[in-house]
Order: sequence, then structure tokens, then C-alpha cells
Amino acid sequence: MSHSHSALVLFSGGQDSTTCLAWALARYSHVETVGFAYGQRHAVELDCRGPVRQGLAAMQDWGERLGDDHLVDLGASLAGIGATALTSDEDIRMTAEGLPSTFVPGRNLVFLAYAGAIAYRRGLRRLVAGMCETDYSGYPDCRDDAVKAMQLALNLGMDRRFVVETPLMWVDKAATWGLAEELGGAPLVELIVEHTHSCYLGDRTTRHDWGRGCGTCPACELRAAGWRRWREERL
Ligand code: ZN
Repeated sequence: MSHSHSALVLFSGGQDSTTCLAWALARYSHVETVGFAYGQRHAVELDCRGPVRQGLAAMQDWGERLGDDHLVDLGASLAGIGATALTSDEDIRMTAEGLPSTFVPGRNLVFLAYAGAIAYRRGLRRLVAGMCETDYSGYPDCRDDAVKAMQLALNLGMDRRFVVETPLMWVDKAATWGLAEELGGAPLVELIVEHTHSCYLGDRTTRHDWGRGCGTCPACELRAAGWRRWREERL
């Protein structure tokens, strides 16, 4: 099997990866998804993946394009190396390195390596991922250079010509909402608001106009601020 118009999307069930999945479905005739269980302290994001995939499959001709979902269980391997605020009950704070304590060292590098292995097996040419260095938490493995270096490593290490695409790399959070509207109109914006998850605390009890979450953790603040800027720019 070899699809030049095929893609594997790193899909967590959050806003960014859902927007990337819609972006890939609008472009490629065959799109598969991969998600990772890595001992994150709230599995709620992973629970969002099924309903979001179902919602996207009901839009346009995306149901015919959406292929298999792969869930890679990394068990406690990343969490076991050392506690972070995403994999334990540690408080979310800035560390001495100037990074939020939610940073899980190596996470995106591991994800891309596994995604490459799946894409190799499945004959998928493109890897699509939601990394962004425009309006982000400062994680070094979200930067364009880190992603490009991984693309090179995957191609050298597997003798392939994978292309790692990051449609959100140079897009801020307001423009990410705008891109969703462009790709799928109001129904896609509504799906993202209602069914995707960003909150670091795993809170889904409070529904804001930008979605569900505690409203005060760094992930909620980024998502809410992007929503407000996007709404203001649209007026
Ligand atoms: Zn939150």
C-alpha cells in the first residue's frame, strides 16, 4: 500500500490536533489518526477522540476519507522518567529553565518516532501534527527546527520520504479558530467548542463560549484568549 495523497494525523482530541485533522481531511483522500496514552494525568482528552472523529466523519465527504485510528499505549514510560505537571498531581508553575512544569521532555519526539513507524507500516506519506511556535507554552519540541530535524531523522532512519506537515506552526490561537471556520464553517467550530479538550486540569464541568475547562490554567487561558481575539477580529 502506498498513498501519495494519504496522511497520518497525530490526533490527541484537543483543539489544535482536531483543526489539523480537518485540514488533512480537506486535502487528502485517505487520512488515518494516531493517539498516545502516556500516563497523562487526565485521560479526558483521549475520551474526546472518538466523538470528535465521529463528528468530523459526518461533515462534507470526510467520512469516506477518514480511515483507521491507532492508539499507542506508552504506558508509564514517559511519566516514569520523571514527574511533570501533565503526568502527576504536581502544581503547574514555571520551572528554573523558564518552561512550564507541564513540559514532558521528549514527548513530541517520541510521538513523531512512533507516528513514523506506523506511517511506514501503513504506507502513509505525510505526517500531520499540531505543533505551533507562534502562540504557545514555549515547549522546545514544538518549534519548527525540532520538527524539521525529526523529519530528517525519520527519513534517514527509515529510508522514506516522509513529509511532516504542521499547518499551525506560524498561526496564532485566534487564527486557529479562523482556520476551523474556513475548513468546516460553524458546524466545525461548534464541534471543537463542544467536544475537544484543552484544560490541563481535566475539568469539563463548566461550559464557556470557547469550550469546557477550568478557565484559569495556561491551556484554558490560551484557548480563551484566542477565541476572544478571533471574535473581535471577525466583527
Ligand atoms: Zn483549564
